[in-house]
Formats: sequence, structure tokens, C-alpha cells
Amino acid sequence: MTNTTAKICLIATGGTISSIYDEQTEALRPGLSVDALLDRLPKGMGDIEVIKRELFQLDSANAQPHHWQTIAGAIKKVSEEISDLDGIVITHGTDTMVYSASAVSFMVQDFGKPIVFTGAQIPASVPWSDGPRNILDAMRVAAFGDLGEVCIVFNGEIHRATRTKKVRVNSYDAFDSMDPSPIGILARDIVLYEGRKKRDHSLIPRFDTRLDDRVFLLKIFPGLPPQTLARIVDLGYHGIILEGFGSGNIPTDENALTGGILQAIDQGCFVIVSSQCAFGQADLSVYEVGRAAMDVGALSAYDMTSEAALVKLAWVLGHTHEPDRVKEMMSISYVGEISFHPEVVHR
Ligand code: ASP
Repeated sequence: MTNTTAKICLIATGGTISSIYDEQTEALRPGLSVDALLDRLPKGMGDIEVIKRELFQLDSANAQPHHWQTIAGAIKKVSEEISDLDGIVITHGTDTMVYSASAVSFMVQDFGKPIVFTGAQIPASVPWSDGPRNILDAMRVAAFGDLGEVCIVFNGEIHRATRTKKVRVNSYDAFDSMDPSPIGILARDIVLYEGRKKRDHSLIPRFDTRLDDRVFLLKIFPGLPPQTLARIVDLGYHGIILEGFGSGNIPTDENALTGGILQAIDQGCFVIVSSQCAFGQADLSVYEVGRAAMDVGALSAYDMTSEAALVKLAWVLGHTHEPDRVKEMMSISYVGEISFHPEVVHR
């Protein structure tokens, strides 16, 4: 154990970790205060000073893009108020944690300190909850980890926020990193792998919460009516993440989507093709059914998860609708959201 004194901020937003059983609805809902959450931790955390902020009591299924902006705003406020913070922990529901954590990744860049999202599969009020352990792990990473990026700490693993998916409903092991593997693990030491962004307190954070939330995520399935794309554009959406099959393939024969993509792009709606597969990437050059999407102007999400691609598109469109600039920004890996790819610029 280290003897260093560290100062972190814990921002509570709700989720299962803060949930209680409501006798009336016979279901779980957030309700534990941040103090009640901290009461569940073993005493004697003497070396970590915790500054508490209670932001929402939200089941994360109810989180909206404006909640992402509020979380980023809270990080900005506390980091301006307390200059010697070592890191931030955000307790959050697991259902949409990757969306919020990805959004914060784009909105708060060059923070230079860990911003750690965590939660639980079982409410902290239950004796066998994973909540206390996950909070302790998250605090440990926030306080002492040599990490300068937004991550999800869960079940002893440290995942890059933008490369993570919720993959299990019941198991303590709720999250997995899509390639590459987790950026670290918690054992006797905090083990962090190469390739991560390291802690750097000399950086000047950049907060930029601009978003265009008129973005849509559409999963292709056999039989998807091609008119769906036009309906989405009619509803006023400015961008669509189209989850294609395998390497980003789309129907081009019966129920072909090519015409709909072309029309959407002509009407100023950006179309980005991601993959329905958890591992691997959209590569529209492999099959004719991928090239067809590329030929009518769709962009590739490379190996971005659909969740990260959606949030990134909202963030990019919050800055520009200029086609060349959108294309350029979607192919820059700002916060490690895209793994290595020859066409991709890594910041
Ligand atoms: N429905 C809960 C939430 O996302 C699930 C959880 O936290 O595990 O808020």
C-alpha cells in the first residue's frame, strides 16, 4: 500500500450502485445518497481525501445527451475549484455508461489525470454487491494510477472508455474492451499497459461540450425496409451510424440501401458505417456489398464501437457540418477510439 495522500472527487449520478428496492413498484430505482454509498466502504481510507458531488439520481437508461454535458460541466467546475485534484470518479449506471464515458472522453481532452467511471451489477446496499469493491478500485486508480484518460474500472479491469462495451447483464464482469485488451488491471499493484495516455498534471484541459444530438443509430437486419433511411432524414437527423454486417456490408440487391444512403447524403445527412461485430473493423473495401456503401459516399467507422461512433458523430457535428471537415474529424482518433489503421490520424 502506498502512503501518499491523494485528493479525488466522487461524482454520483445514480445507477444500480445507488439503487434501492422500491416496495411500491417492486423494482430497483436509484436512491442511495453519496454518503450512504461511501458508508458501504471499509473504513480507514485515510490516504485518499474524497470530495463529494451528487449530480443526479438517474437510472442510466434515462440518461440523455444533455446529461453527458452536465457531467463534463461538473468535471470542469470541480477541477477549477480544486486545483490539486489527483483524479475523478464517476458512479454511473452500467446500461449507458459507455455512452456517457465516451462523451466525456471527447468533451474533456488533455485532462492529464484519470477520469474513472464505475458502477455495479448489484446495489451497494446488498451485502454481496460489487459496488464497494468497484468504487474502491476506481478511487485507487483515480488517486494513484499513472493514467491521463477516461476509463471504466469494473471487476478488477481498467478499460478505455471509448473501446468498451457492456457485454453481460448478470455477471460481475459486465464490460469488455474491444481490441485492444483492457488498458490495465487491478491486482496487488495497479498494472497499466503501454499504449495508454499517462498522467500529466502540466497539461491544460480542453473542455468542449458542443453536441448535435440529431444523430441516429440504425442496425441493419435482413429485410430492413430501405425507406427507413429517408424517414430518419425526414425526422430531422443530421447523421446516421449504420451498423452493417461483418466488415460493414449492406444489402445491395433486394431491399438495397444504396439509394437511401445516396439520398440521405444529398440531403446533408452524414452516413457512417460501423460493424455489428464486437471485434474487428468496418472495412468497406473488402466486399462489393461494402464498396457499394463507400461508392455512394458512406464513411467508415473503422473499428469504433457503434456507441463510440454515435457519440463522436454527435460531438463532431456539434462543431461542423462541412462535409470535408466531418470526414476528416471522423477519421482522426482523438482519444484512442480507433485502434491503429493506416488511414487514421492518431492524436
Ligand atoms: N439500469 C441500471 C442503470 O444503468 C443498470 C446498472 O446500473 O447496472 O442505471
